[in-house]
Amino acid sequence: MNSSDARSEITSPDSLEEDLSARRIKEYVFVAVALIGLSIMMLDSEWIGSVQLHSFMEGIATLLSLIIGSMALVRYYTLKETVFLFIGAGFFGTAFLDGYHTFVTSAYFRPMMPSDIPSLIPWSWIASRLFLSIFMVLSWLAWVREERLGSSGRINEWAVYLFTALFTLASFLFFALVPLPRAYYPELFFGRPEDLIPAVFFAIALWGYLRKGHWKHNAFEHWLVLSLIVGIVGQTVFMSFSTNLFDFEFDAAHLLKKISYVCVLTGLLVSMSTIFLNERTGARALDAALKRSKNVLLELERINQELDDFAYIASHDLKEPLRGIHNYSQFLIEDYSAQLDQEGRDKLETLKRLATRMDGLISALLDFSRVGRVALTLSPVSTGALAWSALDALKAALEETDTEVTIAADLPDLDCDPALVGQVFQNLIGNAIKYSEGKSHQVEVGWNGDMQLPVFHVSDDGIGIKEKDFESIFLIFNRLHSQNKYGGGLGAGLTIVKKIIERHGGRIWVESQPGQGSTFYFTLSED
Ligand code: ADP
Repeated sequence: MNSSDARSEITSPDSLEEDLSARRIKEYVFVAVALIGLSIMMLDSEWIGSVQLHSFMEGIATLLSLIIGSMALVRYYTLKETVFLFIGAGFFGTAFLDGYHTFVTSAYFRPMMPSDIPSLIPWSWIASRLFLSIFMVLSWLAWVREERLGSSGRINEWAVYLFTALFTLASFLFFALVPLPRAYYPELFFGRPEDLIPAVFFAIALWGYLRKGHWKHNAFEHWLVLSLIVGIVGQTVFMSFSTNLFDFEFDAAHLLKKISYVCVLTGLLVSMSTIFLNERTGARALDAALKRSKNVLLELERINQELDDFAYIASHDLKEPLRGIHNYSQFLIEDYSAQLDQEGRDKLETLKRLATRMDGLISALLDFSRVGRVALTLSPVSTGALAWSALDALKAALEETDTEVTIAADLPDLDCDPALVGQVFQNLIGNAIKYSEGKSHQVEVGWNGDMQLPVFHVSDDGIGIKEKDFESIFLIFNRLHSQNKYGGGLGAGLTIVKKIIERHGGRIWVESQPGQGSTFYFTLSED
């Protein structure tokens, strides 16, 4: 295939939609013309049906409209689109009216009605057609209103149900109590002119739905438009030209009514199967995405483990030569300082100090990697006891500062790794004591009292932290102050604390105001 052939095979979604619209317009015109042609061809038909055939056809119409009403309401409650509320309620009401029409015109009920059959049959037919055609117009108007006002323009479903109930009830009473006028006017051009009224409403609805334009891409609205065309032709070209009960125009209009119902039913079936198909495709895509993210997670876990192993091995192996450097510098200071001048002695002291600091950093790195390598040993633990023993370990720091620490009496019992969570309390309380300007100082350890998701906090009224540093303080070897300020430190404590908490499935965050104090919050399980 050459490149120009390939180009001609590429069809844009817009041109696909144009093709579909053009095809649908042809279908609409074809249906209308074919039905009008049929009516002309059958002008001289001698056909005469019967009451039985009529009752049979109306029985089917009742059943069809009940099915459509139920399906449309199921569709409405699946994905709340107002058009389906109106179609659902409209066809339910139509089912009652068609059913009523079937019963009152049957041989059994006929004698109980105040009107006789030539009036009763046409007028009770009109009630159902009028009701449905009005609902079709309303369904379009409701859409227009929603388009204008957004969700505040949504029609209340109970108002729709109430209207349906009132209209059907009023029709029931009307036919049961009021003697009806005649329905046939052979002296006029239209034998049954009243049948043009529902046709007018169907025509308004058709105009509305064509303007709405969804028929171009939405299968349901395409079938609805077809149903409206069949409804209009049935009312205008057939029923209004009927001159006698059960003549060809009369029975053809009854048949077309059922065909128009079947159009709506087809639209509903297509619409629902599209939802199911989309649902299935969506579920498959979700499944694939889940599998992919699971693989990424496994890969991340593996890389994390490798990094922890690397940090552990590297820092473990670095310790050995470092110890040598430290020992040799000590050895030189002790045995050779007399042979060195002051500058040489100072440099040796600096070498020893740097080796000590590096040893500290490597130890912190080892601690950090150890948290990722060892398995958690979970057991039910009193977090209160962990906080108190952390405080015990901090006695020296506490005595040096004028700090008062309060620990909530009701800290809960939890499943956690006691050694690691003890380290969390010790680190956070230690920092809370450490980062103050030497004034008399308050530290508080507490929790939110919610056993579903306990949130612990350690707060102080110390120096506080700027908001821009809320994240970076959890990065390894990141100190916000010079090496020896506030008792010194390596900047690894909070990183280790964060890793311990995350291994328990929890999270840690800080709230703070510079000069006012800080509160560290943490959880030990997933939200
Ligand atoms: P270190 O205390 O060894 O520096 P950490 O990881 O424990 O390391 O803390 C990192 C940084 O977070 C500290 O250098 C300090 O600036 C800041 N910080 C931690 N806790 C507090 C606190 N309670 N109040 C103010 N700043 C704090």
